Amino acid sequence: MPDRRQVVILGSGPAGLTAAVYAARANLQPLVIEGEPSSTSDQPGGQLMLTTEVENYPGFVEGILGPELMTRFRDQAERFGAEFVTTKARAVDFSTRPFRIWTNEPDVEHDVEGQAVIVATGARSLMLGVPGEDRLLGHGVSTCATCDGFFFRQQEIAVVGGGDSAVEEALFLTRFADKVTLVHRRKELRASKIMQDRAFANEKIAFRWDSVVTEVLGEAKVDGVRLHNVVTGEDQVVSLKGLFVAIGHEPNTAVFTGQLDMLENGYIRTRDGTKTNVEGVFACGDVQDHVYRQAVTAAGSGCMAAIDAERYLEALGH
Ligand SMILES: Cc1cc2nc3c(=O)[nH]c(=O)nc-3n(C[C@H](O)[C@H](O)[C@H](O)COP(=O)(O)OP(=O)(O)OC[C@H]3O[C@@H](n4cnc5c(N)ncnc54)[C@H](O)[C@@H]3O)c2cc1C
Repeated sequence: MPDRRQVVILGSGPAGLTAAVYAARANLQPLVIEGEPSSTSDQPGGQLMLTTEVENYPGFVEGILGPELMTRFRDQAERFGAEFVTTKARAVDFSTRPFRIWTNEPDVEHDVEGQAVIVATGARSLMLGVPGEDRLLGHGVSTCATCDGFFFRQQEIAVVGGGDSAVEEALFLTRFADKVTLVHRRKELRASKIMQDRAFANEKIAFRWDSVVTEVLGEAKVDGVRLHNVVTGEDQVVSLKGLFVAIGHEPNTAVFTGQLDMLENGYIRTRDGTKTNVEGVFACGDVQDHVYRQAVTAAGSGCMAAIDAERYLEALGH
């Protein structure tokens, strides 16, 4: 028999767990399908499990470690009666009611049903996949200038990428760092002309054209990178304290293909708060936000999704 719930929440990052707190306190006894252990951000607790200090989550004057923050979110949801299963949604059917979810194999009977579903499966940063990068993530390697720029005051750092977001991150980081080297594998940037002009006019930004990072160096913290020039074949070690990887993000939406409307970049399309194109299915957090991508905005939209789900269920008479 499937596990039948009023509300099923997919994902346990800041968005999913905030939705769980609100849904549980509304007495909806939500089931949270929290994801599976992994070495990437796609794990119970989400992206903040990969970081060290979080200094911009309101209420934590001295900052808090990412994993500790997520443990607190989870404990709070559990305290009000949210239940968790440590697995993933492997398939969904949002064309029937109640909605069906498979955490087992898609070719057997579905095992979870929800009258309402909150999708909070997040996103992941695309990474370079070079030695040292994983190990030093949160210790000098970052994917978020807004989150971590402050840690690099008066340091020399690099940003990898050539699109608008890489240039935007590099420009933002010049507020803190003494020098920001933009490392790009081609001879020219992909970023819009106006962003390029701003970058070229900024004295703190240097450029490494035709170059790729082949290794991140450092024991406990980043102290340099190995660069490879793809035209000359030359390798060089450059000393720096931080490396920002800005080569794009990918939302965790594969499982919803054909079920939910998405934007061209694969993010779930929401309207009127957290509504998707399927009545009764709501989306919150990074899975539907390619603009802000912050823990506090994810949490805020998780609250919205739970309230939207609660009102939807109430209107249905549940
Ligand atoms: C290294 C790093 C440092 C960061 N530092 C900060 C910071 O200092 N401050 C800040 O505000 N923001 C920071 N961010 C951004 C912040 O982590 C994200 O904005 C936030 O985590 C988004 O929350 P979310 O709940 O939408 O998704 P996520 O945190 O991405 O969580 C998604 C969840 O969905 C689960 N999931 C995925 N697929 C499925 C599926 N099929 N079925 C069930 N579950 C699934 C995952 O296991 C995970 O639990 C950082 C991000 C990174 C990567």
